Amino acid sequence: MREHLNIAIDGPSGAGKSTLAKAVASALQIRYLDTGSMYRAMALFAIRRGVSVSDEAGLKTILDDADIRVRYDERGQRVLIGEEDVTDILRTQELAMGASTVSAHPCVREKLAELQREVGRNYDVVMDGRDITTNVLPNTKHKFFVTASPEIRAERRLKELRARGSMQDTYEQVLADIKLRDHNDSTRAYMPLRQTEDAMRIDTSEMTTDEALAVLLRAVAEKQDR
Ligand code: C5P
Repeated sequence: MREHLNIAIDGPSGAGKSTLAKAVASALQIRYLDTGSMYRAMALFAIRRGVSVSDEAGLKTILDDADIRVRYDERGQRVLIGEEDVTDILRTQELAMGASTVSAHPCVREKLAELQREVGRNYDVVMDGRDITTNVLPNTKHKFFVTASPEIRAERRLKELRARGSMQDTYEQVLADIKLRDHNDSTRAYMPLRQTEDAMRIDTSEMTTDEALAVLLRAVAEKQDR
């Protein structure tokens, strides 16, 4: 069996990872796995069960019941808890912060990382997240670290929230959340966000998606040829 094409993208929130990863998936006709949505679903599951996202012991007791699944249909990736499709309710600030906290627990990361590796073993896929290059797909040769300044990321996130009809968040609040999540993601003890030596850095602050896409596709093609 041929090895599947696995493209790993890490970087902080709002750097344009998911826009870029979706463009890559569409250009190469492969799947896109948004791993952040799985942490968001885990946070939602904990909240519904009345377990705090910071309570490691409590999380351990519900982990086996957390039947988080990933499916693909004509809309793209769907995230399910059991049979319930929760994809459309995951992109709130509450669940973003919840995901950031819940993702610090090794037991949660191990469970979700294994589900993500399974997708990589079975499909050609581009994945984005915080530990894809370091932990989920450490052996792939296609690694990217996508970043942008916090201010630009806050502007983009605010636009995205507005487009979804969420009017209550202010620029200051979104910027503060981004900085807090950056801090959480890069200082957690277990699998912090970091750039590996073999990852190509793409700073999208001054780049369009098309420009970033061209850089990434060129790098993938060069490595595929080797
Ligand atoms: O990418 P997104 O904003 O949906 O991620 C939500 C949170 O989930 C991030 O702030 C991060 O803490 C966590 N996450 C993670 N590892 C991943 C993907 C997301 O820790 N692979």
